[in-house]
Amino acid sequence: MRRTLCILGLVACVGLVASAAPQLVAVKAGRLLDVGSQQVQENVFVVIDGATVKEISRTAPAGANVIDLSGHTVMPGFIDAHTHVLLQGDATAEEYDAQLLKESLPYRALRASRALRIALDHGFTTIRDIGNEGAGFADVDLKRAIAGGIIVGPRMFVATKALAPTGAYGLSGYGWELAVPKGVELCDGAVGCRRAVRDQIEHGADLIKVYADRSYYRQPDGQIRSLPNFTLEELQAIVDQAHRTRRKVAAHSMTPIGHSLALGAGVDSLEHGPVLDDQSIRTMAERKVYLCPTLTVLDFVAGPRSVTNTIWADLQKASRESFRRALAAGVPIVFGTDAGGFDWDKLNEAEEFRRYVNAGMTPWQALRTATITAAELLEQGGRLGTLQPGAQADLVGTREDPLRDITATERVSFVMKDGVVIRK
Ligand SMILES: [Zn+2]
Repeated sequence: MRRTLCILGLVACVGLVASAAPQLVAVKAGRLLDVGSQQVQENVFVVIDGATVKEISRTAPAGANVIDLSGHTVMPGFIDAHTHVLLQGDATAEEYDAQLLKESLPYRALRASRALRIALDHGFTTIRDIGNEGAGFADVDLKRAIAGGIIVGPRMFVATKALAPTGAYGLSGYGWELAVPKGVELCDGAVGCRRAVRDQIEHGADLIKVYADRSYYRQPDGQIRSLPNFTLEELQAIVDQAHRTRRKVAAHSMTPIGHSLALGAGVDSLEHGPVLDDQSIRTMAERKVYLCPTLTVLDFVAGPRSVTNTIWADLQKASRESFRRALAAGVPIVFGTDAGGFDWDKLNEAEEFRRYVNAGMTPWQALRTATITAAELLEQGGRLGTLQPGAQADLVGTREDPLRDITATERVSFVMKDGVVIRK
């Protein structure tokens, strides 16, 4: 269009270019939360140039398009560091199996596009999607579709297939003649696991996800324990291969045997961690290994799964105690919900905030997990989870004050991503 008009003459061309210059946007925030400094600024403008924040100002620049959120509390867009967009709830094994056996990948990808829209509408402008559950590299496609403007959703960091050794992950329990799909990529031995990491990175993995343990049970002495998956040698190969390609490793790890192997191999985050022992907490605090607690999913599955195995109610209970001890010890805690493990349209993943506050965090601390800390985990500090100059213009607004009532985060009424208004 522009080029066609330009051939009409220099005057028309110059006029068109001038009118196409991007207009500044100024979001007038009644209250602006600076999560990093824990300061509240009142009646300020977040000045946005294109997709990034230009400055925080007392006045709107002349000619700026003003969005009036005087009655709102405004904060950086939320980051959920543990999601599965290609999953739609798996409180029971039957629900999980049906998704892998009866649903095509195109169907799952289409439903994932709706999950992504839901997440964004709830204020989550970035997600770390941490395993496709049998959907190949479809998360890479979803990420591309969002980046290319084909669908609307949060910015994605993706783990692709996740890794577990042979025999350690479903689908299982079917007739031995049947080749049923697996929810992960199986790999064995240091060489085989290195190859799997290389393949996932070649196909677009931003991080690597491993399953460190499985099969949770209670010992006669009352302790909750699990079966280890990989050997230390295998996990070390995975971590080394990921790190030398500048990718982080997230380990699903529920009890101390998983933690000791995962931490021994040098993983960057423990996912879930409902049963944390003192040694693991010490190591995580010292080496700054992130805990991604996913309390929402633990609450969601506790009821249905305890019908056949009461360990799930025990894990739910233990998770609060572990959370408190990790918080007290200075373990970096990053916001993660396991959305997809629960149905995207049944629960708002922002409920995780209230669970952190109920388990001992201040509202400021809870907000930090989904902004500053999550951005650090993603190595996006200064760009995401903050509204400082140069950051991506990802904003959330609530009518109520989340510092007074953290559940205000579950009722966002304004969402902007990359300077584009998503919800108003
Ligand atoms: Zn998960």
